Amino acid sequence: MDEIVELRWRLHRSPELAGSEAATAGVMAAFLGAQRPDGLLAGLGGRGVAARFDGPEDGPSVLLRAELDALPIQEAGDGPHHSERPGVAHLCGHDGHMTFIAGVASRLARLRPPRGRVWLLLQPSEETGEGARRVVADPRFREIDPDWAFAIHNLPGYPLGRVLVREGTFACGSVGLLARLHGTTAHAAHPELARSPAATVARLIPRLDGLADDAATSNDPFALATVIHARLGDMAFGTTPGEAVVCITLRSDSEDVLGRLRDAAVAAVSEEAERDGLGWETSWVEPFSVTVNHPEAVAAARAAAARLGLEIEELEEAFRWSEDFGEIIRGRRGALIGLGAGEEQPPLHAPTYDFPDALLATGIDLFCALLDHLLGSSGTQRP
Ligand SMILES: [Zn+2]
Ligand SMILES: [Zn+2]
Repeated sequence: MDEIVELRWRLHRSPELAGSEAATAGVMAAFLGAQRPDGLLAGLGGRGVAARFDGPEDGPSVLLRAELDALPIQEAGDGPHHSERPGVAHLCGHDGHMTFIAGVASRLARLRPPRGRVWLLLQPSEETGEGARRVVADPRFREIDPDWAFAIHNLPGYPLGRVLVREGTFACGSVGLLARLHGTTAHAAHPELARSPAATVARLIPRLDGLADDAATSNDPFALATVIHARLGDMAFGTTPGEAVVCITLRSDSEDVLGRLRDAAVAAVSEEAERDGLGWETSWVEPFSVTVNHPEAVAAARAAAARLGLEIEELEEAFRWSEDFGEIIRGRRGALIGLGAGEEQPPLHAPTYDFPDALLATGIDLFCALLDHLLGSSGTQRP
């Protein structure tokens, strides 16, 4: 385990943002390559890395996934393993998730499953919602095309090592809408000569914030619309504004409701802009699809947790946050599994968050127990 903790610290010291995970991918490709896999893919959907470990007999293929990217947030604290990059840090625990995968790889190096095939995937750009989609769209993903797929996400606020499962929606889908309004400026002394978006923005903000109430009248399905940014003109006191930007994040545990929210948001922007004679355009940012767990994959996760004697919690509601693993498990037997990171642990993305090393062995054991459950556990010892 010392080597595994050292790897987690090494990854934590050198975090990289979505889309620029070259060094992290290099570290992980080198680690996986040293475990003598039967195949190794690099540059998958960008910076993705995937290692293949074959059992001697035919059988199903199982993909286990972790994420390569860190966050654009300054970490608090200056321990020996803390981030050495100003303004960038592993505050979602992806360093820990990568280390789970490394631990599984080192076990597979010694002990292949008796049948089937294991793919260990390090996926880029999770935080921006782009990575999983790109990995699946990479033509080489056809070679992987797993029968089963699992990812574990650590969850602060839950007891350390508790396994959290849910059939159906595990995490909401979400998408950002960026709306631009185009009018014309005039002197502040002559607002009647301008086409100002000021009143449009003032009407749009409450209308957009209220969209979810129309889309979902109860909590089932869940829907939420949050205006997260608005800007009007410039701080030029002699000028009536001519331009504005409004940004909103939409989320739901239902793809249908999310689709309706998207349509309603664009309709609100176009109607309010046209009412004031403004030009308008919209674009979508960071789309995450709903993460929907397959019942059979959740059953496998329960069985794996039970093998290890871990506490299991069935979640009553889906998480409001989004994860892009839904792209990988869409149409296959897959599940995103929660793993408690400690009740005292600061929340994900908080500047004081740090992945608990005490959870590393549990995550590795849980992934290995899933492989044992699905591929058999007698194992083939390698020389
Ligand atoms: Zn995150
Ligand atoms: Zn994360």
